[in-house]
Amino acid sequence: MEQVILVRIGEIYLKGRNKAYFEKVQMENIKKNLADIPCVLVRNQNRFFVEKFSEENTDRIISRLKNVFGLHSISLAYKVSTNYEEIAKLCVMAAPESGTFRITVNRADKTLDKTSVEIAKYLGGEVLKSNPDLSVDLYNPDREISVDIRENHTAYVFMEKVFCRGGMPIGSSGNGLALLSGGIDSPVAVYKMAKRGMRMYGLHFHSFPYTSLKAKEKVIELAQKLADYCGEMKLFVVSFTEIQQEIHRLCPAEFMITIMRRIMMRIAERIALANFCGSITTGESLAQVASQTQESILVTNSVVEKLPVFRPLIGMDKEEIIAVAKDIGTFDTSILPYEDCCTVFLPKNPVIKPKLDIIEKAESKLDVEGLIEKALENIEVIEIAPIR
Ligand code: ATP
Ligand code: MG
Repeated sequence: MEQVILVRIGEIYLKGRNKAYFEKVQMENIKKNLADIPCVLVRNQNRFFVEKFSEENTDRIISRLKNVFGLHSISLAYKVSTNYEEIAKLCVMAAPESGTFRITVNRADKTLDKTSVEIAKYLGGEVLKSNPDLSVDLYNPDREISVDIRENHTAYVFMEKVFCRGGMPIGSSGNGLALLSGGIDSPVAVYKMAKRGMRMYGLHFHSFPYTSLKAKEKVIELAQKLADYCGEMKLFVVSFTEIQQEIHRLCPAEFMITIMRRIMMRIAERIALANFCGSITTGESLAQVASQTQESILVTNSVVEKLPVFRPLIGMDKEEIIAVAKDIGTFDTSILPYEDCCTVFLPKNPVIKPKLDIIEKAESKLDVEGLIEKALENIEVIEIAPIR
C-alpha cells in the first residue's frame, strides 16, 4: 500500500484531438511546480498521479497543485493492487469512528467479475462488520469513501476531494501582455487571463519623481504574488513622467486621461509585439470611472492596430473584483497608499464621452512618436519568479 496524490484535470478533458498537446503542457507545468520536491509524476488516462514522495511533503505538494491552472481537483489516495480483500482493508481504515458513510466505486477495469454496485455492497458490508456502530447513508453520508479501480490492476481509495482553480494550463493559450497598475483591478485581470492558459507579461508605467519608488515596489510585490499562479513573469517598467508632463503642458486638462491611455496602449502594443505576446490585457470595468465608458474605450482602443485587447473584468462589479483580489492574496498590497501614475496631474473633470476626432486634434500638438521612442529607450525589465 502506497500513498499517492490523484490529480484530476479540468477543461482540457473536452479538447478532442488537441488533447495530447494540452496534456503535455499540463504535465510540464505540474513538474515545474513540483521541481524542488522529490516525487514522480505519472500520467494515466485523464489523470495524473504524484507518487514516491515523502509524507512530510504531502501538504506542500497539495498546496502547490491547488494553484496550478488546468487542474480540477486532487485527492490524497491509497494505492493497492486490485484485490477485494486489500481494498476492503483500506475502506475499513478510511471509515469514520461513528456516524454514517457511503462507498462509491468507479470501475474502469471491465474484466472484473463484479459490477461497481456489487463491489460497493461488498466493501460496505466489510466496513459494517468491522464497526457495528456505523451505518450506511447513500444520500447524505458523514463520510464518502471513493474507490477507483483502474485497468492496470491498480485501485485507489480516497476520501476528500480538494478543489483546484480550474482553467487551462499556463502557456497553452500563448503569451499576453497586461497593463499592470498598483490598483486592485489589473492584478485580478492578470490572474483571469493566466487562468485561461496565457503566459503573462506585465507592463507598468511610473511617474517618478512625482510618484515614489514605493509605487514601483508595490507593483513588483503584486507581480510576485501573481507568480504563485502565473509562474515566471517578465515585468516591463516604463517611465511615463515626460509624457505626462507634455500632455499637461500641451493638451486640454479634460483630455489628459484619454490621451495618456492612448499613449499607454501604443507603448503596450509595441512591447507586446516585440515579445511575441498575442494580446493586451487591462483591468477596465465598464462605467467604473470616466475612462471606462464605451466612448472612452473606443477612443483608447482605436490606437491599437494589430492585437486584440482583453478586458476580463469588463462586466464585473467592484465587490466581485475585490473578492477575487482577496482570494488570490493581492488585495492587501493593492490597497497600500502609494500613488499610481494615473493620479498625478489628475484633472477635476475628465471627459466622459470623448470624440475621436477632437481627441486626435488635441493629441496632434504632441510629438507622440518621439515621446514613445524616448520612453522605450529606458525600459527596465524585471524577471519575477515564484518564491518556493
Ligand atoms: P486598477 O485598479 O487596475 O489600477 P483602475 O480602476 O484604477 O484600475 P484606471 O486607473 O482607469 O482604473 O486604469 C485602468 C487600467 O489601465 C488598469 O486596470 C490597468 O490595466 C491600466 N493602467 C492604469 N494605470 C497604469 C499604470 N500606471 N501602469 C500600467 N497600467 C496601468
Ligand atoms: Mg488605477
